[in-house]
Amino acid sequence: MSFNRIFTNGKIFTADRENREANAMIICNGKISWIGKEEDMPSVVGEKIDLQGRRVLPAFIDAHLHPLMLAETSKQLACTPPGVTSIEDMVQALKKLREEQSPDSWIEGWGYDEGKLEEGRTPNRHDLDQAAKNVPIVLTRTCTHILSVNSKALEIAGITKHTPDPPGGKIDRDEYGEPTGVLRESAGDLVKNKMPVKSLEEKVGALAEYSDTFLAQGITGITEMMADHRPIDYFEIYKAAVEKGMKQRVALYYNWDEFQQLDLNDPALFDRKQSVYIAGIKLFADGSISGQTAWVHPAFIGDDENAGISTTSREELLEAGEAAKKYGIQLAVHAMGEQAIDQVIDTFYKRADWLEGAPSVRVEHASLPTVRAIQRAAESGIAFVTQPIFLFAEIESYLNNLGEERSRNTYPVKNILEKGIQVAFSSDAPATAWGDPVNPFVGLGAAVNRKAYDGSDIGQEQAISIETAVELYTKAAQEVVRIPFVGRLALGFHADFIVLEKDILQVDKADISSMTVEETYMGGEKVYQKKV
Ligand SMILES: [Zn+2]
Repeated sequence: MSFNRIFTNGKIFTADRENREANAMIICNGKISWIGKEEDMPSVVGEKIDLQGRRVLPAFIDAHLHPLMLAETSKQLACTPPGVTSIEDMVQALKKLREEQSPDSWIEGWGYDEGKLEEGRTPNRHDLDQAAKNVPIVLTRTCTHILSVNSKALEIAGITKHTPDPPGGKIDRDEYGEPTGVLRESAGDLVKNKMPVKSLEEKVGALAEYSDTFLAQGITGITEMMADHRPIDYFEIYKAAVEKGMKQRVALYYNWDEFQQLDLNDPALFDRKQSVYIAGIKLFADGSISGQTAWVHPAFIGDDENAGISTTSREELLEAGEAAKKYGIQLAVHAMGEQAIDQVIDTFYKRADWLEGAPSVRVEHASLPTVRAIQRAAESGIAFVTQPIFLFAEIESYLNNLGEERSRNTYPVKNILEKGIQVAFSSDAPATAWGDPVNPFVGLGAAVNRKAYDGSDIGQEQAISIETAVELYTKAAQEVVRIPFVGRLALGFHADFIVLEKDILQVDKADISSMTVEETYMGGEKVYQKKV
């Protein structure tokens, strides 16, 4: 028995080039069986739903995301604008969080960036002790490589003035040699190793619970860009989360060293029709712009010697590429700086062709591609997956490390699209210094306005239209991530769509980033309704 739902009176942006606008659609067993103009609609029996003239878009797909980390950090304090703009704010918010939590649990926060704090400095143990003396506090900087902790956390980790810096790490000290509470790189592990380990149940529970937050943002397709095998396999975690009620369709990208540990004999692991599947292998070619570790050319401002770091080799890229080819999946390579991007594109120039009708190689972030790199990526079918929210939220570190002109030319989305490169938008949440890091409207607004959160111009020449921006978060994201039959509202596709209160294609461009979703549907079923 088939069951129909008939949606009428909508302003439906389909993201389908053949049939861009519609106002009615018929959903049969979760899929679109007809879509078009109401006057042409065939007569069928079913439940009728009036969309009341509201704007409908395909639901969003976040092509580069860290859902598990996001779900876990959502329980922590976001030390970011707009909520936190000073150390003083941070202390007050930590006090509040302490009152809400059970009295002996660790207090955690994430996302601070001293460049965004009124005091203009990194929070230290004296600051954090004002929020709590008897319970450990651990704040992770936005780059995730630096921690600020209170005296209690130092005590639990056994860090004193006599503790030597561990290899590859640094314990910041004051003029008397006492630790300040700021722990860099591997020094952070001294504290992290003492923190309570989360169980499979806790991880699954956090993800399943976070599913509703994704739905409220209109996100129904997600990627896990740092899947691990150890200590708990991510496939197992996500499968269990789906069983526990997580609604999103999930594509996993495994870290290359972890991928090599997997038992890959079961073809169902790669079956894109499943709710969770392995979509690719992830590698890193460099670090970040905010941490001055992206492999750039020319060097970072203020240090002619520092052109960042290279974190892979041509040989390793080719080896991972061979494995991806063998299993019919993608290779996704993190590359922000000019040299890192060149390395990936030169390695796979005209040989990234093992998948049919989809990009075999994805360059993640692609912050500083040269004209030559763009040309060669276009000739090779290599896709770029970028995050418009980065430049919007982290403008201070871009300006400090790259200077104004070079910052404006990062993420040259318009040029890249004009060359015919496949581009997908995403958030990389929670690796973004923004309080609401996964919000697609913030990214859409940033791509359309090319203005930072403080209103400064971040390269108007690279602004794109709202229609294109929506496509990059829906149809084009699907084409890169390859979750089947989503991202477009077209015949045979899953009826995954969102209903907006205001028409995003008509509103003032400045209002895009504050838009919200009223309803989210998956397979024609309402899975989210905004509370009034
Ligand atoms: Zn990432």
